[in-house]
Amino acid sequence: MRRLLAFFAKRYIAGIEIKNAIEAARRLNSLGILATIDNLGENVSDIHKAKLSVREYHRLLEEIDKAKVKSTVSLKLTHLGLDISEDLARANAESILRKAMQYGNSVCLDMEGSGYTKRTIDICLSLRKDYPNVSIAIQSYLKRSAADITLLNKNSISVRLVKGAYKEPPEIAFADKKDVDANYEALMKELLLHGNRPAIATHDERLINEAIRFANDNAIGKESFEFQMLLGIKRGLQKRLADESFKMRVYVPYGAEWLPYTLRRFRERKENIYFVLKNIFD
Ligand SMILES: Cc1cc2nc3c(=O)[nH]c(=O)nc-3n(C[C@H](O)[C@H](O)[C@H](O)COP(=O)(O)OP(=O)(O)OC[C@H]3O[C@@H](n4cnc5c(N)ncnc54)[C@H](O)[C@@H]3O)c2cc1C
Repeated sequence: MRRLLAFFAKRYIAGIEIKNAIEAARRLNSLGILATIDNLGENVSDIHKAKLSVREYHRLLEEIDKAKVKSTVSLKLTHLGLDISEDLARANAESILRKAMQYGNSVCLDMEGSGYTKRTIDICLSLRKDYPNVSIAIQSYLKRSAADITLLNKNSISVRLVKGAYKEPPEIAFADKKDVDANYEALMKELLLHGNRPAIATHDERLINEAIRFANDNAIGKESFEFQMLLGIKRGLQKRLADESFKMRVYVPYGAEWLPYTLRRFRERKENIYFVLKNIFD
């Protein structure tokens, strides 16, 4: 099963090493597409492992600069020690932001399961005071997200809007996909009108077309927002949007800790289950 998932992962992951991510970013750049590189890893419970991820991100920022690829970085606070302490994760994120600032680069805080939402936003707000190069992902499946976006907009923090990839209870999250999509549309419009260079991160063509129509109707220029998608999903659409002069950025994950990310991608599409079952029984 792990071997089958490793095969499946190849579609979504650039490789194991920094150089694989840089190559993927370079390929995307050659198509007019920007990148954001993520070193895979989450929920570290050991202070030294958290330090190793900081070192890896420093190296990644150096390599991005050296290779002159157009790419920001994305990270998860639990990869930097949020399960150990909020202070540790904050200090580690600050160290990466400081390094990114030296290179004129920026850092997006991915959003994890709902147990981390408040702490991730609090850390982001506190870092924003000294680091304008920090941004954050917000999930439209969470009922709290409208209030979070108002607060982040007030603080001029750039938001990457996603639907959300974790299993959440119905008390705090919309259970029905059509409600998640409707909330996405409402939050997307709020961000287009009042956000600071928001990222519309979805592969949902209806929502992408609606973003384009809404931006046109409200005289919101193409430079004021960007689209984002994941490596390996809707490549034709990524290229088409870039060709139409929209800012298009692709999330490029790399690293040895590929399993949790791959399982999240796996669950997003029922065709993926058929793919695995077919390969087991063939
Ligand atoms: C740049 C970026 C960063 C993200 N960061 C986060 C984050 O920090 N936290 C978080 O919780 N989530 C994050 N996500 C994941 C997100 O929450 C969704 O789980 C994921 O994007 C699928 O939702 P969708 O918006 O594409 O809409 P959906 O309605 O799920 O999908 C729309 C269409 O896209 C295609 N598609 C979607 N997923 C797949 C797949 N796995 N394989 C093949 N085709 C697929 C299908 O054609 C589908 O019909 C991120 C997504 C992007 C694009």
